[in-house]
Amino acid sequence: MLRIRPGARLYDPDDHPFLTRELRGYDPTMTPLEVLHAARGWWVLAEAAENEKFAVVVSRNTGLVVMAAAIERWEQDEEGRRAFAGRILPPGDPVHDRYVGQPDPTPNAVRSAVTYFTDEEFDSLPCRCGCGEPTRAPWRPGHDQRALHTLIRTDFDGSVAAFLDWYQARRPAPQNA
Ligand SMILES: [Zn+2]
Repeated sequence: MLRIRPGARLYDPDDHPFLTRELRGYDPTMTPLEVLHAARGWWVLAEAAENEKFAVVVSRNTGLVVMAAAIERWEQDEEGRRAFAGRILPPGDPVHDRYVGQPDPTPNAVRSAVTYFTDEEFDSLPCRCGCGEPTRAPWRPGHDQRALHTLIRTDFDGSVAAFLDWYQARRPAPQNA
């Protein structure tokens, strides 16, 4: 998840095709849509940010979460900064109800406007091995090994040699030979 803590409200019109707005920053007089557009970008973020599915916006004055949003799409501007498009999550949405009105989930974070945190429930997907356990990475630790050995056991009678022979026979030709 992203935690966005904008600076003070600032009139700074922007008519980028991906993000049209008049205001940056945050103050409580802004409409929800103005808050969303101010929070969407443009931020200097690593590509990994594009894996994030939710953002919460925190008021610098109160330290409370004032909005939760679902992230639907990312774009980069000419300078490589990133912005997302998304929608405001209403009351009744589980992410809204967990965070909005609550204290900043990252109270000890550095002073930068944007930081990351993990919500074990909302950030997790089922492990690829089929064990059903939630994980943020594609696999629970060690479960990639488990999946590989299960495959060798079921399809190759447990023989790593048989698996490697099968693989070598089908292996794509090296690109730079
Ligand atoms: Zn697993």
